[in-house]
Amino acid sequence: MVLFQDLKSDYKNLQSEIDGAISSVLKSGSYILGCEVQKLEEEFAEYCGTKYAMGVASGTEALQVALMACGVGYGDEVVTVPNTAVPTISAMSAVGAKPVFVDIDACYYTMNPDLLEKAITEKTKAIVPVHLYGQVVNLKLIMDIAKKYDIPVIEDACQAHGALFYENGKVKKAGSVGCCGCFSFYPTKNLGAYGDAGMIVTDDASLSEKVKQIRNYGQETRYSHKIIGINSRLDEIQAAVLRVKLRKLNENNEIRRKKANLYPKFLGSCDLELPNEAEYAKHVWHLYVVRVPDRSALQKYLFDHEIQTLIHYPTPVHLQKAYSYLNYQEGSFPVCEKISKEVLSLPLYSGIDEKDIEIVCEKIKSFLC
Ligand SMILES: *Cc1c(COP(=O)(O)O)cnc(C)c1O
Repeated sequence: MVLFQDLKSDYKNLQSEIDGAISSVLKSGSYILGCEVQKLEEEFAEYCGTKYAMGVASGTEALQVALMACGVGYGDEVVTVPNTAVPTISAMSAVGAKPVFVDIDACYYTMNPDLLEKAITEKTKAIVPVHLYGQVVNLKLIMDIAKKYDIPVIEDACQAHGALFYENGKVKKAGSVGCCGCFSFYPTKNLGAYGDAGMIVTDDASLSEKVKQIRNYGQETRYSHKIIGINSRLDEIQAAVLRVKLRKLNENNEIRRKKANLYPKFLGSCDLELPNEAEYAKHVWHLYVVRVPDRSALQKYLFDHEIQTLIHYPTPVHLQKAYSYLNYQEGSFPVCEKISKEVLSLPLYSGIDEKDIEIVCEKIKSFLC
């Protein structure tokens, strides 16, 4: 059986460190927004190259709290893409904002910057590009347009921990380019907790203060509330786990890169569309997504040969029933719709055996070639 991902073996490799970290939290008597969260925030800010990092309860709420801190609310428009995990959009709905979609680029599957300007109106209060599958979007082009209209860019970096963006010889981490960056530490992400957790990073001191209040009922000092908040706090156990795993993130991302590069090697000249790495980006391969016209048949064939695959994402957000009120139709975003019928995510995680990738490729070849 070739698993899509193996979280249990991941834990086994770090078991003594993780168990130790959890046990010291249990003994400390401090369980929410304590020392471990504070240390993780300092370490993650340093990792991302930002001044501040604020822990929250999930990636979805990182986006929601970031939108609130940027003053986005009822009736405002937020420009994003339909080819993303639904939570990108849930966060907008949670603050009463209206998602406005632009289609994606056919090569990298991220926001097509050429289509962004047309989507901006007087009501646009934020732009949320998504660094999909582990690769940053072309932030230079997006930031240029955002600056022209003075609209904040909130990076959805939930799939791109440690991914790089290159611009004029400078190297930036995903999440550090826009006004803020939002991360999820859902267990399957490149940096994953053992429960829900998230983080917002920024260089903006006043934004970081707002986020800290919003995540804690809008509380400035005890029992004093100047702004409206929610409860989206990070707990000490998840923070302690994440501190152990953050130390391995670069190494794990490098291993992912090596293993991802085995796919083109083993697949050879097989007739399927492999993922592309942009010249402005360093991919961290959260997902290894190929495209085939006969996707369902290939997925079934692999399943029958004990190979797990997944689809990210079978239904674009604009065609989900929950968002039918936006009145988009089939045909609204042709690139996104086309790829949603063809994408297939192949097994990839840092602990996967080289041999298993070879098996996957052999089966794909015997199906296609
Ligand atoms: C995982 C993910 C989220 C949501 O994160 P949660 O921690 O599950 O709330 C948001 N956006 C993208 C692109 C994601 O992959």
